[in-house]
Amino acid sequence: MSQRISILPENLTNKIAAGEVVERPASVIKELIENSLDAGATEVSIEITAGGRRKICVTDNGHGMSREDALLSLERHATSKIRVDSDLENILTLGFRGEALPSIASVSRFSLATREAGSLEGTEISIEGGRVRDVRACGMPPGTVISVEQIFFNLPARLKFMKSAETEAGHVGDVVARMAVSRPDVTFSCTSDGRELLRLQQSDLQRRLAQVVGRESSQHLYPVMSGTGDTAITGFISGPALVRSGTQSMYTYINGRFIRDKVVQHAVMQAYRGVFDRGRYPVVALFIELPAGEVDVNVHPTKHEVRFRRQPVVHDAIQAAIEEVLSRSPWLPSPVAAISTSKETTGQAYRERIAAAAQASLEMPSQRVSGIQYSSNNGALPAAPVGITSQKSLTIGEPDTPFRPESLQEQAMGYFPSLAVIGQFHSEYIVCQTDSELVIIDQHAASERVAYQRLKQQCQSGSIESQRLLFPETVELSFSEVTVAVTFKAELESIGFELEPFGGTTIMVSAAPRIVARKNPILLIRDILADLLRFGTSAAFTEALDNILSRIACHSVVRGVHLLDNRQIKELLLQMDQTDFAASCPHGRPVSHVVTLAELQKIFKRT
Ligand code: ADP
Ligand code: MG
Repeated sequence: MSQRISILPENLTNKIAAGEVVERPASVIKELIENSLDAGATEVSIEITAGGRRKICVTDNGHGMSREDALLSLERHATSKIRVDSDLENILTLGFRGEALPSIASVSRFSLATREAGSLEGTEISIEGGRVRDVRACGMPPGTVISVEQIFFNLPARLKFMKSAETEAGHVGDVVARMAVSRPDVTFSCTSDGRELLRLQQSDLQRRLAQVVGRESSQHLYPVMSGTGDTAITGFISGPALVRSGTQSMYTYINGRFIRDKVVQHAVMQAYRGVFDRGRYPVVALFIELPAGEVDVNVHPTKHEVRFRRQPVVHDAIQAAIEEVLSRSPWLPSPVAAISTSKETTGQAYRERIAAAAQASLEMPSQRVSGIQYSSNNGALPAAPVGITSQKSLTIGEPDTPFRPESLQEQAMGYFPSLAVIGQFHSEYIVCQTDSELVIIDQHAASERVAYQRLKQQCQSGSIESQRLLFPETVELSFSEVTVAVTFKAELESIGFELEPFGGTTIMVSAAPRIVARKNPILLIRDILADLLRFGTSAAFTEALDNILSRIACHSVVRGVHLLDNRQIKELLLQMDQTDFAASCPHGRPVSHVVTLAELQKIFKRT
C-alpha cells in the first residue's frame, strides 16, 4: 500500500495562502492598514520604496502587542478578533482570518516591532521567507511598525507579474486613499521614495473626500442620508457634472469595510441610469451599515466581496437612497431645487430632468462642466438649423474650413457620392438609392469611421493635429491614472494632448486633439487613461493605440438623433468616399446596409 497524501508543512501552506491574499505591494498595505485600524490606531503612516517592491513600512500608534502575542500573530490562523464559531456571524473588525501576517512573512524579508503602552520595552521579530531569524527587545513608542522588504524574493513566478515601481506606487496610493475615506477620524500619511503622496489630517468625511478626489470634484458631491429598517446608507454622491470613465472613484463600504460588490455597484448604476451614458460612472462614497449578521464577509480571502442575506432589500435601499438625492437635483440653482423637492420622488419625470441636465452640461462644456474656452473661435461655420445641437460631426478634421461646393464635383466619382440621396430617416440614418439598391447609412457610425481613418493617417504621418485650449484645464485623477498620464506623456503628446503634472493627483491639460477640442476633451482624456490602465503600463502604447484613436473618433461625433441638411449629407458621403472604408465603424458596427431591388420584390411577393 502506498501513501500518496501528506499534510503540507506550514511554511508551504502560508505561501499558498499568500497567493490569495498578497497579490502586489498594495495588497500587503491593505492588510497592514486593516490591522492598524483594528488595533485602534489614530495615526497610520505608510512608506514605500520602489513602489513597495523594495520596501514597505507601515507604522501605527495602535495598542501594540505583548511579546507572546507578537510571536503568535505570525502563526497561521492566529487572531485576536474571533474565538468561537458564532463570532463568524458577527464580525465587527476588518480582519478575522488570522492569515495576513504569516502569509506576508512567508514571501518576504519581514520584521515586526511592537510595544504595548504599558510595557517598558518593545519586541522586534525578524523573519525571512517564513523562518524566524531573530527575536529581541527594542526601544520604541507604543504601537506597531511592520516592515516588508523584497516581497516575493522567494517566489520568482510572482515577482514576474509585478509591474513597474511607478505602477505599483499608483496602486498603493489608491488603496491608501480608499481606506482613508473610510476613516476620516484617522490621520494617514503616505510617502513613496521619500516623496509625500498623501498627508491626511484627522478630519470629517467631506474634507477627507475633497483631499482624496480633489477639491474641484468634491464641489459636485451631494450628501446621502437614508435609513430603512436596520439599514443605513450615508455618504456623498456626484451629480451629472462629475463623471468618471471607470469605477475607480466609486468608494463603497459595508460596515466600514471597502468592498467591490456587484450588487452594490448595480444598485448605484440603476439609480444613475438616464443620468450617464453607458461606460460612465459617478463618484460616490457610500457607507452601508447593516447588522453584522446580515452580511457575510467570509467569501474571499481579500474580503473585497460580500454576500447579503437579503440581497434585494439592500439593493433597493441603496438605489432608493441615491435616487432620492438625484430626484432633488441639488446641483440646480436653489429656487428650482426647492420646487423640485415638493413631490417628485421616483420615476420617469426626474430621470428625464436629470438626463436633460446631464445633456446640457455635456453640450456646454464652456460653462457647465469644465469652463473650457477655445482659442480659435469658429465663426465660419454655417449657422445650425433649428434643432441641431452641433454640426461638428460633419466637419471632422477641418472644422474651420467652410464647405466648398467645388470639392464635391472634383470628387464625385466614388460610390458614396454617386448615391442619390432620398433623405434622412429618424434623424439618424441617411437613406439613398442607386438604380437597383436602397442604401441606408448609419450617419453616426459613418462619421466615426471617417474620423478614425483620418486620425490613423495623421498618426502614421507623424502626429495628430492638436489645438491649444485658451484656458488650460485641470483634471483630478486617481493615483494610478496620474501614473499612467506621466508614464505616457510623450505618447499622449503624439496624439494631440499636452499635459503637465499639477501637483498631487491633478494634471493640467493645455491642448487636445483638434477634432475634439471643442467637445469635451477632459472626458476623453479620462477615457484614454482608463483604457491605458486596463492595458497595464507594461503594455506598449501602440497596443492600445487603435483603441484610443477610435475613442477620439467616437468623442468627435455627435451621437443619437441629429438632423442633417442635404449639403451636410453630401459632404459626409464625400468624406466616406475618401476614407479607406471597411464597412464598419471602429467599434465593428456596420456603417451601411444595402437592400436590393430583388430583396424588396421578394418581400412584396412580386417574384
Ligand atoms: P487578522 O487580522 O485576520 O486577525 P493578521 O494575520 O492580519 O490576522 O494579524 C494577526 C493578529 O496580529 C491580529 O489578530 C492582531 O491581534 C495582531 N496584529 C496584527 N497587526 C497588528 C497591529 N498593527 N497592532 C496590533 N496588533 C496587531
Ligand atoms: Mg489582519
